[in-house]
Amino acid sequence: MDNTTRLQYLEAMGIESWQLRYTPPAISDLSGFQNLKGLDAPPVEIPEIPVIAPPIPPEVIQPAMIPVDNWDTLQQEVATCRQCGLCQTRTQTVFGSGNKNPDWLFIGEAPGEQEDLQGQPFVGAAGALLTEMLRAIGLKREDIFIANILKCRPPGNRDPHVDEMNACRPFLNRQIALIQPKIIVAVGRIAAQQLLNTDIAIGKLRGKVYEVNNTPLCVFYHPAYLLRSLSQKAKAWQDLQLALKTYQEIKERK
Ligand code: SF4
Repeated sequence: MDNTTRLQYLEAMGIESWQLRYTPPAISDLSGFQNLKGLDAPPVEIPEIPVIAPPIPPEVIQPAMIPVDNWDTLQQEVATCRQCGLCQTRTQTVFGSGNKNPDWLFIGEAPGEQEDLQGQPFVGAAGALLTEMLRAIGLKREDIFIANILKCRPPGNRDPHVDEMNACRPFLNRQIALIQPKIIVAVGRIAAQQLLNTDIAIGKLRGKVYEVNNTPLCVFYHPAYLLRSLSQKAKAWQDLQLALKTYQEIKERK
């Protein structure tokens, strides 16, 4: 089976496949960088990381029918979903927010306490930091869409369980299909590992551009982690610059 056919089969089945696009060279500063506290450290050298082989598909796969979808149906299904145990402890589902026809899609891990209470992703101090970092590269929250792997909060903000992510993942896949983003940013370890189907540490995943179903994907530290680890902000800033550079290259090609 040739590679193009293999990818079409995988896409039709909703199975993610990804490949490394490139490792970026050092990226120069952008205006707005200086406005961010803690981001004024010098650029960090990105180490060489071996290419990771994409998952090997089954040899015989029948393409599945892809249903016609829309935002209202999807939002209602999420709001009433009881497909995993998190429905019993949530205050409400957190569908995602922002522009429903954006170029940029940011994907985090799961709602936290404030998100669960407010029904919005990335609120509170971590959300404010993300908003500020986006502003520094010329993006507003209303320009992008932000969603999570899980639509319900895990109790005590524990890591999502595999069965919960498997149960919830179709909703995210449908959001991606509706948005058809030009670039995806995986925010945090869980999101990066889930989207790339790997258990490699985020420190080794970041600093590169991947391709998931023909969409470039960059990895970004979770802002909640950055609030606890100020020394990582310079790397996070590099990662945002890499995402911006990747996006600009896409726009220039079209
Ligand atoms: S986390 Fe996802 S699958 Fe689980 S109940 Fe919430 S919406 Fe449904």
